[in-house]
Amino acid sequence: MSNPFENAMSQLDKAAKIMNLDKNIYEILKQPDRVLTVSIPVKMDSGEVKIFTGYRSQYNNALGPYKGGIRYHWNVTFDEVKALSFWMMVKCATVNIPMGGGKGGIIVNPKELSPGELERMSRGYIQKIWREIGSDKDVPAPDVYTNPTIMGWMRDEFEKLIGKKDPGVITGKAIADGGSEGRETATAQGGVYCVRELAKKKGLKPSETTVAVQGMGNVGGYMAKLLAKDGYKIVALSDSKGGVYNQDGVDPDKAEEIKKAGGMLGCYCLGGVCALEEMPKDGPCKHVSNEDLLELQVDILVPAALENQITKENVDRVKAKYIVEMANGPTTPEADELLKERGIIVVPDVLANAGGVTVSCFEWEQNIKGEHWTEEQVLAKLEPMMVNAFNEVWDTADKYKITMREGAFVKAIERVAEKIVIK
Ligand code: NAD
Repeated sequence: MSNPFENAMSQLDKAAKIMNLDKNIYEILKQPDRVLTVSIPVKMDSGEVKIFTGYRSQYNNALGPYKGGIRYHWNVTFDEVKALSFWMMVKCATVNIPMGGGKGGIIVNPKELSPGELERMSRGYIQKIWREIGSDKDVPAPDVYTNPTIMGWMRDEFEKLIGKKDPGVITGKAIADGGSEGRETATAQGGVYCVRELAKKKGLKPSETTVAVQGMGNVGGYMAKLLAKDGYKIVALSDSKGGVYNQDGVDPDKAEEIKKAGGMLGCYCLGGVCALEEMPKDGPCKHVSNEDLLELQVDILVPAALENQITKENVDRVKAKYIVEMANGPTTPEADELLKERGIIVVPDVLANAGGVTVSCFEWEQNIKGEHWTEEQVLAKLEPMMVNAFNEVWDTADKYKITMREGAFVKAIERVAEKIVIK
């Protein structure tokens, strides 16, 4: 697997050439402002002390405090955290929120820790980085295998250390703890606003537009339901156990209901509903693997599960006309080049899934102002931001005759570059 930071830097390089970026700014953007590496001693339930390694990368804060999640994963690396913080800088700048790029991580398999060990490790991480974070400095959030409960522990630990309240130090908190209404659906909702704009540009009629969604998790699940509500024809859905396909349409609510009851996605079958495992071969619903789902004849493909799904190995078999990247990094750089050659439009992750960080920014703003907005207020602010971002990226791509991903990088770097002051 290629080095994620090298990939990120090749994207920077490409954007810099397209926009003829000032050389000094380019040099500044070639590395993060700061990366903290910390060791976190944790007293395990057995009494033994185990040391975990954590990172916090602060890429650039020209637009505002560093912003980005904290990931708990056994594969976390220094270069991965740096790359993710660069992409956060691009994402925040793409949607034009007043935040810079940051990312954190701990090398750990959180599933192997007891709740007490998890809490002590989370608090221990904050004890090591608290001097460098705060609502006016660096605002972490959840990422892979971290959640609102962990954010609550982190906020509490931080406030104990600074001796005062600062709820905006961290986002993705539970509502009772200062979280924002609408955060749960924000990422999917932002993606839906992008699809609506794409439909306007390309003259797509929802009822005639077929969609396949890979990954019925938080993002993919809401995306499928919201698109179905808009009238799109969802024909395939999947989760880690596999997927369902019905060319006449799959009802995402029903599919999820069946999954809740039986543990597996489901569909209307002959004479009723049934789960993935019991679908009759001659019924309207077919079982489809996650790999095959990516190759279905659909108008819009929505990868919403994992990174590196569309690769140079399968890209030639992708038949969708449009790809809306709701997962982070679902398309490898080589596959991206091949999609470009084939004229397949990719709405890139830094735009399509930026609704999540935008509502995180709203959470921060509410915390700073001591306000609590309703879900309607949140969505009323989110929609114009996503619509503007989509159109700016579209226009930038059009101006330079480049892809939407390249357009997003160019637009974002333009915005960051304008704010970098060289003294
Ligand atoms: P999640 O854990 O809720 O859902 C992930 C889904 O992917 C699950 O349904 C799981 O069954 C499925 N899955 C796992 N392995 C799979 C496989 N091999 N093939 C197909 N499906 C598989 O996670 P989420 O929060 O929905 O995040 C999904 C993606 O969206 C990630 O790439 C994440 O980084 C990105 N993202 C999430 C947010 C957010 O607000 N949650 C914001 C921006 C980006």
